[in-house]
Amino acid sequence: MAITEDTKTKGFSLQSGPHMSTELDVERLIRKREAALGYRIMASWGWGADGSGHITARDPEHTDCFWLLGYGVPFGEATVDDLVLVNESGDVVEGALEINPAAFYIHAPIHASRPDVVGAIHAHTPYGTPFAALATPLTMTSQEAVAFHELQGVFDGEELNVTDFATGQRIADALGEGRLVVLANHGLLTVGTSVASAVGFYLNAERAAEVCIKAPQGREISSQSASEVHESVGKEINGWHVFQWLIRSRINDPSVVG
Ligand SMILES: [Zn+2]
Repeated sequence: MAITEDTKTKGFSLQSGPHMSTELDVERLIRKREAALGYRIMASWGWGADGSGHITARDPEHTDCFWLLGYGVPFGEATVDDLVLVNESGDVVEGALEINPAAFYIHAPIHASRPDVVGAIHAHTPYGTPFAALATPLTMTSQEAVAFHELQGVFDGEELNVTDFATGQRIADALGEGRLVVLANHGLLTVGTSVASAVGFYLNAERAAEVCIKAPQGREISSQSASEVHESVGKEINGWHVFQWLIRSRINDPSVVG
């Protein structure tokens, strides 16, 4: 599979990008492996140790369904066989485990509203959650923040635990056509046209949130400069590249997810 082939060597090309396959079974496995690796990347920082947070991967064939980790599986032990498939009603249609209901209510309206979104990730992270308490968008005070220039929204509802589809739809509306939505008093959520880029951009968002928290008076660059920098840090391939670095830096052997 693509990820294993890439990681046979220490380096990877600047020109390399997402591996898409027209063979549905192959593409499904790519997405599931990226999701399982994403959970393990989260666990490598201790994120999700309390069960909070989720990654979803749209199925390439049944496009109104998505994969996510079965409830109760430690993120650091995630494999492709621990993922379950849920439909647009929240029913588990493949796999034996239950799911975190909040994961469905937050992610399902996003997948339904954004056909371009393959992957989505939400977590309660060391800087993302404190930053979300400010209920404001990221300021353009770091390179990582610029990935979200004109691509971020804020959901300012007070539903800190999302228990219905309608609330999730308001989150999807706040995301709009963007890449990041700040869930006020809750945490961050990023999306991508691949699971890999969604996870890569989550790391960008977390780092940008750290800068906002540690340097609240930091200089903000101009909108014009942000637009220019965005060209080199804000493309989908940039998020995908971050993910490749994360696999190399945080996962000893990516084939461990199956
Ligand atoms: Zn949450």
